Amino acid sequence: MQITSKLPEVGLTIFTTMSKMAIEYQAINLGQGFPDFNTDPKLQAFVSKAMAEGFNQYPYMAGVAELRNVIGEKVESLYGRHYNIDSEITVTSGATEAIMAIVLASVGTGDEVIVLEPCYDCYLPAIKLAGAKAVCIPMLVPTQERRTFQVDWDKVKSKVTTKTRMLIINFPHNPTGAVMSKDDLDQLELLVQNTNIMILSDEVYEHIIFDGVSHLSVATRPALAERSFVVSSFGKTTHTTGWKIGYVCAPKDMTVELRKVHQFMVFTVPSVLQHGLAAYTKDPSTYLDLPAFYQKKRDRLADGLAKTRFNVLPSPGTFFLLADYSAISDVSEAEFSIWLTKEHGVTVIPVSAFYAVPDAAESNHKIVRFCFAKTEETLDRAIERLLKI
Ligand code: PMP
Ligand code: GLN
Repeated sequence: MQITSKLPEVGLTIFTTMSKMAIEYQAINLGQGFPDFNTDPKLQAFVSKAMAEGFNQYPYMAGVAELRNVIGEKVESLYGRHYNIDSEITVTSGATEAIMAIVLASVGTGDEVIVLEPCYDCYLPAIKLAGAKAVCIPMLVPTQERRTFQVDWDKVKSKVTTKTRMLIINFPHNPTGAVMSKDDLDQLELLVQNTNIMILSDEVYEHIIFDGVSHLSVATRPALAERSFVVSSFGKTTHTTGWKIGYVCAPKDMTVELRKVHQFMVFTVPSVLQHGLAAYTKDPSTYLDLPAFYQKKRDRLADGLAKTRFNVLPSPGTFFLLADYSAISDVSEAEFSIWLTKEHGVTVIPVSAFYAVPDAAESNHKIVRFCFAKTEETLDRAIERLLKI
């Protein structure tokens, strides 16, 4: 039976495609972003305990109270904003469901949603399914002087129209690792003041940020928080990307609408995982220790790559780093990523896949993304292979 596709341009995601290829060619998978090590045994024990104690039925639609409590305390202590746990915090099936539910709940036909490219893969399909129009604005690409991607706020400003209803941002940023600066927050505040633009702030890497810098959440600014959905995910924070537990903090009126969609997309998310995460996350070291943990891995991969023909770009946050391969090849990023998997046994992600039009001039760079959420042994084995190129 033929279906008229609502997403005709969508195929398998680049992450699934590259992971499949890594398996097929027995390559070391530094592509899709997931840890290749286990989560903390303490967290596993909390989840097992919750299961044995019988937390196996539908939990409350918006999330287990203990978990919303822990999230509320964490956000208030780190970002200084109080979110009411009953009316402003919602536990979701990962950040992915959160993003889909937010977009479906808040924009529609005739609305424009600004996204910054390169952008994470689930934003554009969500906007399209909502019937709204995505307005893609490329970030400034790295130069000799400025080595990281950066938001071009003048360009963003020039694309705001009376139809602009939402701006989606993501810091620390996948795939570039860029982090939010105070100046970015100032610019954002100026941009949205006296408008009815909502912000979807995807902060899933909030606890993976390096070199002593602290994450600047939009929740730290009252003028931004009052119009923002702040999204995060325990998958990144507790090395459990397969559990799909995320959350959204947003003002009450916005949360009411989000929950209307959430309750019919999934109704609620696994009870035992929520109870386990609540008990575990009560200890702030479970997220405060992450920068040091991941910085060691970032440095190990960056130091190793520095001895190869790749040119490493700085990674101030996330568990990804970018490297330029123009000294090795001038083929496209997609072709290079396939070649690297097949011929050298290391899988990466082409950054061009994070653009609506992968071959557009904006993505005319020669950069691939490496994931360093891996054991030292995995990283060392990958470096060994890359040194031979
Ligand atoms: N946003 C970004 C920027 C991501 O990198 C990811 C996934 N890794 C998600 C959202 C989705 O998170 P989750 O796995 O919790 O759905
Ligand atoms: N966020 C992960 C990445 O960027 C992938 C998650 C997924 O495959 N959906 O690699």
